[in-house]
Amino acid sequence: ILDLKHMRQNPGLYEQNAIDRNYAPYAKNGWKILELHEDLTRRRRDVVALRQRNNEIAAEMKSGHKKDGTTALIEEARILKSKLSESDRMEKGIAEEMERLALELPNLSSLHTPVGETPEVLEYLNGDTPPVSHSGKSHVDIGRELDLLDFDASSTTSGWGWYFLKNEGALLEMALVHYALSVAMKRGWQVMTPPSLVYGHMASACGFMPRDANGETQIYNIAHEDGKAGLVLAGTAEIPFAGSQAGKTLNARDLPIRVIGSSRCYRAEAGARGVDTKGLYRVHEFTKVEMFAWTAPPTKAQDSDRFDNDDVEDDKLSESNHDETMFDEMVGIQKEMLTSLGLHARVLEMPSTDMGASAQRKIDIEAFFPSRTSIDNGYGEVTSASQCGDYQARRLATKVKNEAGKLDYAHTLNGTAIAVPRVLAALLENGWDESKKVVVVPECLRRWMPGESATIGP
Ligand code: AMP
Repeated sequence: ILDLKHMRQNPGLYEQNAIDRNYAPYAKNGWKILELHEDLTRRRRDVVALRQRNNEIAAEMKSGHKKDGTTALIEEARILKSKLSESDRMEKGIAEEMERLALELPNLSSLHTPVGETPEVLEYLNGDTPPVSHSGKSHVDIGRELDLLDFDASSTTSGWGWYFLKNEGALLEMALVHYALSVAMKRGWQVMTPPSLVYGHMASACGFMPRDANGETQIYNIAHEDGKAGLVLAGTAEIPFAGSQAGKTLNARDLPIRVIGSSRCYRAEAGARGVDTKGLYRVHEFTKVEMFAWTAPPTKAQDSDRFDNDDVEDDKLSESNHDETMFDEMVGIQKEMLTSLGLHARVLEMPSTDMGASAQRKIDIEAFFPSRTSIDNGYGEVTSASQCGDYQARRLATKVKNEAGKLDYAHTLNGTAIAVPRVLAALLENGWDESKKVVVVPECLRRWMPGESATIGP
């Protein structure tokens, strides 16, 4: 599941990359993997010699020339057999340990990614500064006043972090989903509704480990019958989408493949408390429309660092042109939607410490929330787009066959189209008219609202 050749040429890069990405406890994993691999190679060579001797013995015994030595040969064959089965056991153990260590390693960051904790602001949407004319009223209060949200009922049924959407609140959710799908469909994206439950190993392969770096469980597990692979509730449609091509070989001429779909997302959000315990900003279950794409890997010429420059130390993994084009398309869709929804937002190139395991590069868009001006000047993340290179495809064994019949791993990318709760909160807060006590509905959503109404409220 790793490019061992690249790792052997650049072991320091893997160590520094893990440190830069806040994966310091796993920084030595690359070195350990290389040591284990050497051990494995040595053992495999020994096994070849043992097998060869085994074959010789079989041939000698068959030919029956050395009748006197038969007993000695039988004894030697018995010892060889036990050595071979011991080697098999050891090899399996080493391979499993290598895989465990590899799964803990994050992807290599791209050249675009700033090292450290500070994102780079790339651009602003709908003006360079947040709007000044807003009441600062929270979506929780607006939602209560207009009977759109109910957190009391959900605290009775489910506890902290759950909610009921009501009336136009529930309809706005549907409108946002329809709107997001319609924007992507116009650009040729295929609509797909994924399952909400996936095997745990699918989540791990996509970079979502059962426990985070603080040892907290962020994924809901479903109890399962003995002997069956365990299912988890997917935190994002990225997992079932990526998994849908696991073990498959795609044709290069069919790429890129682009899918978009709405799913319910489940997040334990362990450790997240405090300011986000109220309202829709951080919840355990939500609707999200997600984009996912498979692209062709770079050709040798595009990826010269990786394929030709054997003695380059500490180089960075170069990116494929296909990935750059697809990434621009995804971020373009995100910007188009937030701009049409009338939300002021900033587009950020995310730094190495804030990327998740699978991303080489990540762009987040943060919208302005009038009720949150005490945190980050009111900016809060509403979308995220990640370029994952071959990180997920290697773990899921998704390959691409090119025109010449050569096999390589596919590349994957994912991006939020609309994550409903935060966008809904931002729309209520930014669209609130204090004098009329109504919320103005953005024009692009009206066709999906009852009577194509321009406002919600009395
Ligand atoms: P992620 O898949 O973590 O990159 O999240 C994608 C988007 O989902 C974020 O940009 C948020 O808009 C939204 N989101 C993530 N976690 C939550 C949550 N716990 N509650 C509400 N929205 C969330």
